[in-house]
Amino acid sequence: MTDANRDHAAAVTRGEGRAGATAAEQAAACDYSIEIRNLSLWYGAFQALLNVNMRIRDGLITGLIGPSGCGKTTLLRALNRINERYGNVTTVGQVKIFGRDIYDPAVSLPELRKSVGMVFQRPNPLPISVYENVVFGMRMHNRRSKLSGAFLDEAVEQALRDVFLWEDLKDRLRTRATDLQLEQQQKLCIARLLPLKPHVILMDEPCSALDIDGTKAIEDLMLGLRGRYTIVIVTHNMAQARRVSDDCIFMLLGEIIEHSATKELFLNPRNSKTADYIEGRYG
Ligand code: ADP
Ligand code: MG
Repeated sequence: MTDANRDHAAAVTRGEGRAGATAAEQAAACDYSIEIRNLSLWYGAFQALLNVNMRIRDGLITGLIGPSGCGKTTLLRALNRINERYGNVTTVGQVKIFGRDIYDPAVSLPELRKSVGMVFQRPNPLPISVYENVVFGMRMHNRRSKLSGAFLDEAVEQALRDVFLWEDLKDRLRTRATDLQLEQQQKLCIARLLPLKPHVILMDEPCSALDIDGTKAIEDLMLGLRGRYTIVIVTHNMAQARRVSDDCIFMLLGEIIEHSATKELFLNPRNSKTADYIEGRYG
């Protein structure tokens, strides 16, 4: 069990879990941090997700692969309800994160997005200093209490250490983040999630704007975070999925075709469509 999971389980035990679910039910859910049941999603009349069912294991890295347009980004965005930012989206079904249904109307979206952080294809730091990027979320979520300078300094150092940026940037914390190299910007976008103590980190093709060295650096960083967070990464790079993920999900036309241990999926696919894809017959 990860620390985050333990904290969550403790909160559940204190009765802070979802109303209606017993503590036993919620504890049982904890080998899997994410459970999706009968999830369908439409953009207008177009159905982008077709009755998705899956459980994602806690504290591991799950890769999401499939040809362009198959719904990887949509599925990822369903996990922190970012799809709702686009007009005309209908979502039905259930997404439970640590036993809590995130589509429950009582769920606070800022709290959800704190607990389920997201990294995008293009690094998108704010055009302010490195330091201010890292503390931005903490300030947003603690508007009513003043956070001490020492507390913020410590959080910045820890977050930058966790993404292997501290040595490079400790003397440049006032540099504007958008002036950093792309690889550093992407690391910073991961670093700024960490002080919010997320349970899940979603990454949508986080290396697609990076060169080989940048890609390797982000992959090393993901492996460094493995065990502390549940990471779901969309990638169109199958070699990357093989290198970093524990489990892998293959999607096609809005459906989950196969979900297995990564080794199994690539060496011994159960579905002929998975085999066709990983052998490069389409996509
Ligand atoms: P992937 O990430 O696998 O390339 P997406 O999740 O981006 O796929 O898209 C899945 C399908 O949903 C595609 O057919 C795409 O055109 C459609 N789609 C994605 N986002 C939107 C949107 N905001 N509005 C309408 N259709 C969308
Ligand atoms: Mg996508």
